[in-house]
Amino acid sequence: METELFIGGKWVPASAGSRFDVLDPATGDTVASVADGGEVDAIAAVDAAAAAGAAWAATPPRVRSEVLRKAFELMTERAGDLAKLISLENGKALVDAKGEVTYAAEFFRWFAEEAVRGEGIVATAPSGANRILVVRQPVGVCVLVTPWNFPAAMATRKIGPALAAGCTVILKPASDTPLTALAMAAILAEAGVPEGVVNVLPSRSSGKVVSAMLRDQRVRKLSFTGSTEVGRILLAQAADNVVNTSMELGGNAPFVVFADADLDAAIEGAMIAKMRNGGEACTAANRFYVESPVAEEFARRLAQRMSGLVVGPGTDEKTQVGPLVNEDTVAKVDGLVRSALDSGAEAVTGGSRPEGPGFYYPPTVLTGVAADSPILREEIFGPVAPIVTFNSEDEAVRLANDTEYGLVAYVYTGDLARGMRVSEAIEAGMVGLNRGLVSDPAAPFGGVKQSGIGREGGHDGLLEYLESKYIAVNW
Ligand code: NAP
Repeated sequence: METELFIGGKWVPASAGSRFDVLDPATGDTVASVADGGEVDAIAAVDAAAAAGAAWAATPPRVRSEVLRKAFELMTERAGDLAKLISLENGKALVDAKGEVTYAAEFFRWFAEEAVRGEGIVATAPSGANRILVVRQPVGVCVLVTPWNFPAAMATRKIGPALAAGCTVILKPASDTPLTALAMAAILAEAGVPEGVVNVLPSRSSGKVVSAMLRDQRVRKLSFTGSTEVGRILLAQAADNVVNTSMELGGNAPFVVFADADLDAAIEGAMIAKMRNGGEACTAANRFYVESPVAEEFARRLAQRMSGLVVGPGTDEKTQVGPLVNEDTVAKVDGLVRSALDSGAEAVTGGSRPEGPGFYYPPTVLTGVAADSPILREEIFGPVAPIVTFNSEDEAVRLANDTEYGLVAYVYTGDLARGMRVSEAIEAGMVGLNRGLVSDPAAPFGGVKQSGIGREGGHDGLLEYLESKYIAVNW
């Protein structure tokens, strides 16, 4: 297991010699000690990325594509070991970790395919005076900051398009889950990524190292996935050097079930939208709005399914719901549930934190949740489903839009016209219509409102790492 910084193609200790511990969320025990990068190391990583930039940008797209394809193959070959590593440091159930590895590797395959689609524009100026030529060029050195909830996929969703576009990168993984990022660095090196093109900088001083890199004028791009709160801070810092930004921030997804929906499908979709990753997903259904005639049945059936899930250590094959990632996360979930219960909600299943060890929270379904309850406003990031009833389509749309977030929404209805109408009316970057899962490397992922700026995946994901250069030509 690699535990040093990865800078300029080499495994190096932190310049200050410091290290930090990575914990197993199932026990709270230390599983590894990792080099703790500081500002000096961050600038060394920028040096390496800047030095490698010109040669990588000039590398033929077909060659860049083949390196990414090889990385996809290596990840696929080692899927079992990578999944165990993800479970170990993040806590998620192995079944979720395996799903993540498949999803993560697919970003390398997809962007290997996109790398060779280097299209631009040739047009005649409306005046007829000249031609308009648009070529796409790599944006340059990119700082990539990722969260702990999908330690592999959030890294590949950024590294894949950056490398395909001809950019060089410094990845700053979440300090709860640096081991997966370091394993990805080893795979990329083996796949043939040249020295300095990908650098990985675990750090306990995330604020300091990211600020130091954003102050360096060689850094031309920040791609961040994490909370809206930290996203705001980084947007302000990026403003100083007018750094190009892609921001994938928090969510507060509504899951809307109309009375005409296929209830079996809605329950199935709810289980995926709520329980994938134990609820620790930005796309997790955070608020369930169910039309009155079916609300009771929906709550009963969802509670039945949720209470049947096997909770245990993520690394155990039988486990369906692992522990949450750390003490803070479980305390936040517990606080939100308590406050909802204090305001009159009822727990149909779950609803209280078990004794330790480990950072566990039981699958929970709440009904009768008060409209102003914090659990409907904040990201829960845990296995809790609060249910609210509604009585009309207008009310459902109003409730769904009553948030500053706008990442994803889920809508279940048997009436396709209504489904399309509501999908268009909901303020979100993505909608699952009769479907509880939207994430797909081939589709543009991202949010509106305070859920972010820009898109990852699909063709849009590549454009985030390219600048359009317009050349006015007389020929
Ligand atoms: P977070 O606290 O915002 O942290 C995200 C990353 O930023 C981590 O690497 C973190 O490092 C780093 N960071 C923290 N403070 C920083 C600062 N002042 N300056 C620079 N970097 C800083 O988020 P999280 O708790 O890891 O992840 C959960 C959040 O991510 C949720 O809000 C979730 O919705 C969001 N998310 C969004 C998407 C999406 O695509 N929209 C996908 C996944 C997750 P440390 O680990 O050292 O704190």
